[in-house]
Amino acid sequence: MSGGRDAASGQLAICPGSFDPLTNGHVDIIRRAARLFDRVVIAVLNHSEKSPLFSVEQRLAMAREVFQDQPEVEVDAFEGLLVEYARRRRAEVVVRGLRAVSDFEYEMRMAHMNRQLEPSLETVFMMPSTAHSYLSSRLIKEIHRLGGDVSPFVPPAVQKHLLRGH
Ligand code: ADP
Repeated sequence: MSGGRDAASGQLAICPGSFDPLTNGHVDIIRRAARLFDRVVIAVLNHSEKSPLFSVEQRLAMAREVFQDQPEVEVDAFEGLLVEYARRRRAEVVVRGLRAVSDFEYEMRMAHMNRQLEPSLETVFMMPSTAHSYLSSRLIKEIHRLGGDVSPFVPPAVQKHLLRGH
């Protein structure tokens, strides 16, 4: 991979995901990544085959609102291979969250595959606080659909979109 650490802009880490929607668990990991790396990009995956609750535009808007006070955190959309996106952005690091052992196998396979595709791209795993370890976008959507209060689990900007019927 060309470029490497760009002295002018610092080391860029990518936090990729669906973020459908962004939860306090995601925010936890992104904040931790922003403390370790100079710049972080929240890369919102535009899946062609998944049918998300929120459009990419809505997911981008929510993430931008949540991180509006952190200029080192950028929000962007991407499609296709993560390694291609990382090459284009000259990022050296991908940050993924590990909640429990159940995440491990899938994440390890992904990390190995990405390494195969681009050996210079490093995957870094970070753990959220215990309080956020059980959160998932899927669970949040389920609770919301059944009329439960999700305000303890998502940032206010996301709660607003959910209540609005997105
Ligand atoms: P994906 O569809 O790629 O799994 P997600 O939006 O579900 O995307 O997750 C994006 C990233 O955030 C992944 O690295 C995932 O492990 C991490 N993540 C999701 N929920 C949590 C959480 N509660 N705590 C820590 N990391 C999380």
